[in-house]
Amino acid sequence: MQSTAEFMEWVEGRTPGEVEFHQAVAEVMSSVWPVLQRNPEYAEAKIPQRMVEPERVISFRVPWVDDTGEIQVNRGYRVEMNSAIGPYKGGLRFRSDVNLGILKFLAFEQSLKNALTTLPMGAGKGGSDFDPKGRSDAEVMRFCQSFMSELFRHIGDHTDIPAGDIGVGAREIGFLFGQYKRVANEFTGILTGKGSTWGGSLIRPEATGYGVVYFADQMLKTRDESIFRKSCLLSGSGNVAQYAAENVIRLGGKVLTMSDSSGFVHDPDGIDEEKLAWIIDLKERRRGRIGEYAEHVGCEFRAGERPWAVEGAEVALPCATQNELSGQDAKLLLANGVYVVAEGANMPSDPDAVRRFVDARILFGPGKAANAGGVAVSGLEMAQNASFATWSRDKVDSRLLGIMVDIHHSCIRAAAEYDRPGNYVVGANIAGFEKVASAMLAQGVV
Ligand code: GLU
Repeated sequence: MQSTAEFMEWVEGRTPGEVEFHQAVAEVMSSVWPVLQRNPEYAEAKIPQRMVEPERVISFRVPWVDDTGEIQVNRGYRVEMNSAIGPYKGGLRFRSDVNLGILKFLAFEQSLKNALTTLPMGAGKGGSDFDPKGRSDAEVMRFCQSFMSELFRHIGDHTDIPAGDIGVGAREIGFLFGQYKRVANEFTGILTGKGSTWGGSLIRPEATGYGVVYFADQMLKTRDESIFRKSCLLSGSGNVAQYAAENVIRLGGKVLTMSDSSGFVHDPDGIDEEKLAWIIDLKERRRGRIGEYAEHVGCEFRAGERPWAVEGAEVALPCATQNELSGQDAKLLLANGVYVVAEGANMPSDPDAVRRFVDARILFGPGKAANAGGVAVSGLEMAQNASFATWSRDKVDSRLLGIMVDIHHSCIRAAAEYDRPGNYVVGANIAGFEKVASAMLAQGVV
C-alpha cells in the first residue's frame, strides 16, 4: 500500500456500505501513516490490514414475544475485533439503527481506546437493532433473555466481556446477567457495569462522564486553566451526559444545555445538582423526554435541534452519538468562542468538524481518549471480580483520574514524537496503534 487513499480503497472494496467503519478507519490510518513509514516491520507484517479485519463476527436471531403476544424478530451481533492485548472488551448497543458497519466502527475505535487505558483489554462490540425506548420492563427482560440465550456461549471472563452502551444501562445489564447465570450455571464477571451489590464496581456508572471532564480539565491545565467557572454545552442526557454534567458541577463549572433525540433544553442559570437529579430520575426511572425538564424549570426547549448554536460557553461536550456535530456546527462553536471540545460519545464530530477543530488549534479531545474512563473502570471491575474484592468509591475515582491523566500524557507524548504537538487526534491514534501493533507483531501471524 502506497498511501492512505489506496488503503481506504482496499478497505471500502471489502466492506461496501459500512460508512461509519470507513470513517473511523480513514481517520486512524491518516494519523498512523508516519508510524508505518518509520517502522516498516508493521507494514511488512500487514498489521493495518489485519487490524481492520475482526477476529470473529457473530450474528444471530433474537426472537421474543411482545406484550400483545406478537412474535418479534431482531438481529443480535458480537464483533470480536482484537485480542492482542487482552480478552475482547466493549459494550453492547441496543438501538434501531444498529448494523454491522456501526458495530465495526465502534469495535475498531474500542481497540485503540482500550489500549490507551493502560489496562490489558482487547476489543469487541455488540448489540442489536432492538430499541428499548417505548418498551415495557417485561418486554426488555424477554428480549435480553433471548439475546443472552445465544450470546452466552461466546463470552467468558477470560474470553469476551461485554458491558453497556447506548440503550443498555443498569436494567438491561441486570436482565442479561441474570440469564447468563441461569444458563451457564456460574457466577462470574462476564459483564461489567453490574449492580454494586452483585459484583459491580463503584463509580462504573459515573466513569465515562467523569472521565470526559477529567480529560477536558487536563487539556485546560496545559494552558494553566481548569473547568472551574467554565460554561459547558452538553449534548445527550443518558449515562455519559448525566455524569459528565455531575463532574462539571463538582469541579465548579456550569452546564447550560442537555438534549435527547427530541431536542435540547437551554437553562442559562445552569443545571445544578438538584436539577440534574431531576433529569436523572426523568431519564432512568420515568423514562420521559427532555422537554419535560424545560416545563419543570421554565427554561427554553428547542424541538429537533442540537445545542451547538447556544452562545456564551467555552466548552462543548458532545455526549449523545456518532456524527451529531457537523462541520457547520464546529464553525459556529468556534465563532462563538468555544475552545475546548471533549468527546463523551464515540465519534460525535464528523470528519469536517474534526478538521476544523484541529486547524483552529483548540483543545480537542477525541472520544477514544476522552471517553476511555468508562471502559477503564470496567477493567477495574474485572480486577475486583478476579480477586473477589470491592474497592471504595475514593479508590476507584482516584484510579480513574490517574488513568485519564496517563491517557492525556500518552496523547501529548505521541503527538510530540511525530511533530504534531498538541494534536490529540494524532496522539491518541498513534499511542493506541503502537501498543496494539507491537503486541500483534510479537504474537506472529494469528
Ligand atoms: N460502551 C463503552 C465504550 O464505548 C464502555 C465499554 C465497556 O465498559 O466495556 O467504551
